[in-house]
Amino acid sequence: MKSINDSLNKLANNQGFKERFETLKSEVLSDRNVQDFLRKNRDQLDEGIVERGLIKMHEFKGQSKECQDCPSLQSCVNMIKGYQPKLVIDGKNIDVTYERCPRKVTEDERKEQESFIQCLYVPKDILGASMSDIEIEQGRLEAIKLVRDFVREYEPNKKMKALYLHGSFGVGKTYFLGAIANALAEKKVKSTIVYVPEFLRELKGSFQDKTFNEKIEYVKKVPVLMLDDLGAESVTSWMRDDVLGTILQFRMLENLPTFFTSNLNFQQMKHHLTYTQKGEEEELKAARIMERIKTLATPVKVEGENKRNK
Ligand code: ADP
Ligand code: MG
Repeated sequence: MKSINDSLNKLANNQGFKERFETLKSEVLSDRNVQDFLRKNRDQLDEGIVERGLIKMHEFKGQSKECQDCPSLQSCVNMIKGYQPKLVIDGKNIDVTYERCPRKVTEDERKEQESFIQCLYVPKDILGASMSDIEIEQGRLEAIKLVRDFVREYEPNKKMKALYLHGSFGVGKTYFLGAIANALAEKKVKSTIVYVPEFLRELKGSFQDKTFNEKIEYVKKVPVLMLDDLGAESVTSWMRDDVLGTILQFRMLENLPTFFTSNLNFQQMKHHLTYTQKGEEEELKAARIMERIKTLATPVKVEGENKRNK
């Protein structure tokens, strides 16, 4: 029987093998990124290390770096999606390690950012909103200034008045909330945006079960609450006094910032809250809720064209 050494020698001397090896070697060594690596580390390398490292450098060469060969993160061409190879020297050997590619880093940051924002009955695409996309025009200057002040000055447990953004349909009030939530998330502050009419409908539906209290408790205690489209719901004394009243009372006493958006200004809101579906006129109860809203938020008008028709 032939010894293993004999067989290996034969293989090494095999013309086909040698040729293939030389081709691979020249391919690998002509790669620009490989050359960069060899040049930068020439002090630590010798011919033996380079020769032994050819397979590793081949593995490195075959994959995308800095997302250059990938159309998107989803269609990443690398062995491990979202990770790019990096050549390193490990003692007397060349090795490949893997680190997150730029797209994966951006995606992870976006996910972390999103994890600070909870949307209840508000479409998630509001998370694409950003303060830098809000046009600086006359009808928004005041709102933009107050939002910027709030985001800059807010820190957890600090007593701060939030904003009551009012203005007509489609001017971008909800978009503002998304932008504020994102700006706060950058400071690692948690916020929840709640679309009020749907929240109240859901609450009504879960009146009998245990999720009812859970929902109210959650909204009461979230660090920054944003109540979107207050005034678009139909008023019942239950929702006004027992739901809204309870939530606002708690947040007021605990100094928890609460933003509002509405098509109605304070005066119209007071009127809206005064008349219930049953036709009862309850001015005093409406006034009590208005006091809480006024304590929690400074009113600011948002004007501009209706962006929904664009
Ligand atoms: P409102 O809440 O005042 O009725 P929205 O915030 O829903 O208005 O805005 C209406 C539409 O315009 C939405 O589709 C929103 O995404 C878009 N929009 C609003 N403001 C901006 C902005 N600054 N940049 C880009 N899109 C915007
Ligand atoms: Mg809206």
